[in-house]
Amino acid sequence: MKIVLEHLTKKFISKHNKNEIVTAVNDFDFEIPDGKLVGLLGPSGCGKSTTLNLICGLEEPTSGKIFFGDLDVSKLPPENRGVGMVFQNYALYPHLTVRQNIMFPLENLKGADKLSKEVMEEKALEAAKLVQIEMLMDRRPSELSGGQQQRVAIARALVKTPGVLLLDEPLSNLDARLRLQTREQIRRIQKETGITTIFVTHDQEEAMSISDMIVVMSAGVLQQMGKPQEVYNDPINLFVAKFLGTPAINVFDGYIRDHGLYIGDDRIGERNVEDQEVYIGVRPEAFDPKENGSFKCKYDRTETTGRDTSIVCHNDKCISDEDIRAIISADEPVYINDGVITFDLKPNKVHVFSKKDESVIR
Ligand code: ATP
Repeated sequence: MKIVLEHLTKKFISKHNKNEIVTAVNDFDFEIPDGKLVGLLGPSGCGKSTTLNLICGLEEPTSGKIFFGDLDVSKLPPENRGVGMVFQNYALYPHLTVRQNIMFPLENLKGADKLSKEVMEEKALEAAKLVQIEMLMDRRPSELSGGQQQRVAIARALVKTPGVLLLDEPLSNLDARLRLQTREQIRRIQKETGITTIFVTHDQEEAMSISDMIVVMSAGVLQQMGKPQEVYNDPINLFVAKFLGTPAINVFDGYIRDHGLYIGDDRIGERNVEDQEVYIGVRPEAFDPKENGSFKCKYDRTETTGRDTSIVCHNDKCISDEDIRAIISADEPVYINDGVITFDLKPNKVHVFSKKDESVIR
């Protein structure tokens, strides 16, 4: 099912100050293609949950519309939208068994939609098999691990074969290993069912790893939408560049003069635009250690974590909160002279942004 958001806006009266209006979602206007897994991504408070709540009908838009396929669902109550929703805290009923929890949405069906107990049990088993918990059907939630509980919540959301599946931070209560496993499971289930799925997270790595597309938001405003790698490789503004990538992009005060791109006195590249001051973002993988490289830094230390070797260094023009990190392969020679290390910077890993509005300068 394709999802279309048409100038969707949601304003709230601030919880702290009754005279203040918070625009949680500001003029969202985009389309999610049928059958895709979309990661909705942004810092805390940027409007991710509000967007999901609008799509599933728990919140009413202040203005704008929501379409599922060609159907305007903006005014439909949640139960008539055909949406499965999974929350961060699972929200399972503690006194019910796994089977009863999964069957619960079917029990509420009325009139012509009402199902016999046998059919409900069959459907519950089918959903349980999809998330691989069919052997746990008679347990109660307290007898399950966090990951298993999360899978029950997903099975419950799938049991009515929804056209749209919404997952709000579904992995944040799980430990690192289980997160990894469960996100792979979610990807598999989504591929098997082909249900259009929106997955909310503030963890960019999580979103990048399983999504067909990501939507990056900040303060209620859509910043950029696209395939994860495309957005990472070609960020539209400084916010997106800083939000995606671990370690984070290194940001410098720089300038363009006579088509040369400079950090301090070092000419590190070119830009065919008029002279101006700019922000220069350099990805950690941009650094290429060279004996007479164009970019000089003060060497601090080398850190090896797993496969990666990071060179930690300093430069007066760096304005990132953290030290500069250059990721290189472990067997690459480095050149340090009098405490100064030199690099060439790979042009496709260097991004330049306007100081006026932080938009990209290509
Ligand atoms: P988090 O990652 O912390 O869950 P989020 O990106 O999901 O954050 P939302 O919960 O959608 O963000 O909130 C967006 C903004 O709207 C915030 O400033 C929040 O305080 C505000 N907001 C959300 N719900 C309400 C409400 N019912 N009344 C007033 N303000 C609200």
